[in-house]
Amino acid sequence: MTSPGKNAGKKDKLLFTPGPLTTSASVKEAMLRDLGSRDTAFIAAIRAIRNSLLGLAGLSREKGYECVLMQGSGTFGVESVIGSAVPPGGKLLVVINGAYGERILKIAGVLGIECEALRCNENRKTDPGEVAGRLEADESITTVAVVHCETTTGIINPVEETGSIARGAGKTYIVDAMSSFGAMELDLEAAEIDFLVSSANKCIEGVPGFSFVICRAGALDHCEGQARSLSLDLFAQWQGLETNGQFRFTPPTHTILAFERALEELAEEGGVAGRAARYSRNYDTLVAGMREMGFVEYLAREDQGYIITSFRYPTHPAFDFTEFYTRLGEKDLVIYPGKVSDADCFRIGNIGRIQDSDVRNLLKAIASVLEEQGVENAG
Ligand SMILES: *Cc1c(COP(=O)(O)O)cnc(C)c1O
Repeated sequence: MTSPGKNAGKKDKLLFTPGPLTTSASVKEAMLRDLGSRDTAFIAAIRAIRNSLLGLAGLSREKGYECVLMQGSGTFGVESVIGSAVPPGGKLLVVINGAYGERILKIAGVLGIECEALRCNENRKTDPGEVAGRLEADESITTVAVVHCETTTGIINPVEETGSIARGAGKTYIVDAMSSFGAMELDLEAAEIDFLVSSANKCIEGVPGFSFVICRAGALDHCEGQARSLSLDLFAQWQGLETNGQFRFTPPTHTILAFERALEELAEEGGVAGRAARYSRNYDTLVAGMREMGFVEYLAREDQGYIITSFRYPTHPAFDFTEFYTRLGEKDLVIYPGKVSDADCFRIGNIGRIQDSDVRNLLKAIASVLEEQGVENAG
């Protein structure tokens, strides 16, 4: 029997953030094994995960879709798709209303891929009509990328409408669904999505360490030989997984085991609908409680998803965000700074292993920190 680690039994802070997120004890426990990369149990786990992810999206190989796992955080998955799916001499249109859209543009720039940004305000949904206009104006565009839930603010972009425009114009369509996949229904077929990217540690509540790409088999075939990177070659990664069931390079074995467990827990919760219900409840409780204290959301409610919410700083002169953040941290509650350009905001996430009762405790803690700061009203 090995001795417990020095952190065993210690209670971690709850993470109300865009990630990494709080995970269940049983997901963490699933990692207490060392498997070799060729272990049959491990290879079976990889296969089961790839099939489950397709199933979660309502898809299958028979329907012409594939699932590729890629080591690294979510950005690595996005980079593998951008670097593999845009053909040589192709041009990428990135539809942007936040930091994660900007990141896609940056990836393309670093890879030397010609790209164009279609920006709109961070408090506005992206506009499919404007996408259509750009595609009409510039025939050299081959590929369109957009973020589903832009975690910068929590806004939900119209990926279905954008998809039919991209498809209608014969373009390849990439969606960063990092913070929504597994907790928001999204029909990839109806949305005409060629490549969807998400990661282990967002709504599926695994631990960080790999991302996954759900894609049309036909679109994936076109990626052969196109990658601008060896390790982030989506097609080669898929081939590796197909030929011997393995990752090409050292696999994230523990993360895979945790993810296998996380998928079971997602199914136990009632799949995407069940998870959506818990996160929505968290969101409703959060917004009601924050409004009661006077806080104002950054987005219009109809544009806001239940994944993460941006709140404006209170205008009261005694409010100090750094102190607010630190004092909540002392109560084992972690919120997240905001990142929008035209307003001072902070964010509170509802994803990860967070329950309604946790949100209520957070609200109580926020009320008491405001009182300590002498902020009578958070408006
Ligand atoms: C979390 C997130 C990412 C990826 O971030 P990593 O830190 O690389 O995991 C990308 N896009 C969106 C929308 C996200 O929420």
